[in-house]
Amino acid sequence: MTKMILPGSTIGIIGGGQLGQMLALDAKQTGMKVAILDPTPQCPAGQVADEQIVAPYEDVQAIQQLAQRSDVLTYEFENVDLQALEDVADDSYIPQGTHLLYTTKDRLREKSFLRQAGLKTAPFLPVHDEEELAMAVEKIGMPSVLKTSEGGYDGHGQQVLRSSADLAKCAEILATHNCILEGWVPFRMECSVMVARNEDGAVTTFPVAENIHHDEILHISIVPARISPRLQARAQQLAVQIAEAIDLRGILGVEMFVGKDDQLYINELAPRPHNSGHYSIEACNFSQFAIHNRAICNWPLPKIKLLQPVLMVNVLGQHVAKVREQIAQHPNWHFHDYGKAEVRHNRKMGHVTILTDDVEATLRDIQRSGIWEN
Ligand code: AMP
Repeated sequence: MTKMILPGSTIGIIGGGQLGQMLALDAKQTGMKVAILDPTPQCPAGQVADEQIVAPYEDVQAIQQLAQRSDVLTYEFENVDLQALEDVADDSYIPQGTHLLYTTKDRLREKSFLRQAGLKTAPFLPVHDEEELAMAVEKIGMPSVLKTSEGGYDGHGQQVLRSSADLAKCAEILATHNCILEGWVPFRMECSVMVARNEDGAVTTFPVAENIHHDEILHISIVPARISPRLQARAQQLAVQIAEAIDLRGILGVEMFVGKDDQLYINELAPRPHNSGHYSIEACNFSQFAIHNRAICNWPLPKIKLLQPVLMVNVLGQHVAKVREQIAQHPNWHFHDYGKAEVRHNRKMGHVTILTDDVEATLRDIQRSGIWEN
């Protein structure tokens, strides 16, 4: 039995955005101390942590400082400097290790791992230049999508190819990035499952979220996803298969397509809490943040129960003023405001969670509020 990290110990988090903030809020509840590394003073997580080291994420000395002050080290996003993490790995406790990050940082490695583990993905090929793109399009066909292998998020660094006229639009991405070409999956729904595993190999999964995107940014999650119980169970089973194949410690978000053929295709892995799991704060017996903290501290992992169906709506820069204005009109909405100083278009500023026994009626309420019109 591996040693548990007990209350009074310090969790160090690389990154101080909303995911770090919600991890820190949960950690404080269990008597942990929290140290954050983030370049922005008073970042969302810094506002609720015991201390913040204000420095760039790739500042090796700052990561070392964070490691020295922490009993356990974690991160809230995947673009952590791998080398810097490896450099401190010998002298600090990083239960997630670096292999998970190494795999999920790069779409080509991630998809190759998924295939080797026996999971379905869209067909894909590596692409480094225009010649390879032409060959890949020949094999995979169109529609397809060219994605940067590293560093993309929320649809950034992607080009959809519907006809050969779109090939020319790829020049800029290809000039600066290694890419992969993916075949288009005709899907009827996008969904995701959060899965966690601890050092002792205990695994737990969350209910399946149905995800609706606007402009490639998550807009609404509906839980449970409106698919058959059999498919829901299958999605959870695949998430467990991935967790075991990658020897997971901590939480992992598994994004999937429910194909028109009713098959589940894995799209992406997120080695951290995920936007589509925020609903769990109010709707489950334990939140995704509590489960990540428990998993990295090697506490036992409970079976997750959904207490009530739920909707989670993201609040972006263009929505936040209206959301704040409407607090008084929606007594049953849980408003989360991350406390970001700068409001920008499409920036995630907060989210709203609504527990409901009538999902369709609540979807209409959301529409009627006028908050998410654009
Ligand atoms: P990603 O950054 O890979 O999550 O892609 C952003 C969004 O683009 C996804 O949420 C899907 O809506 C869409 N998308 C990406 N890849 C594919 C694909 N291979 N087939 C169909 N839709 C895709």
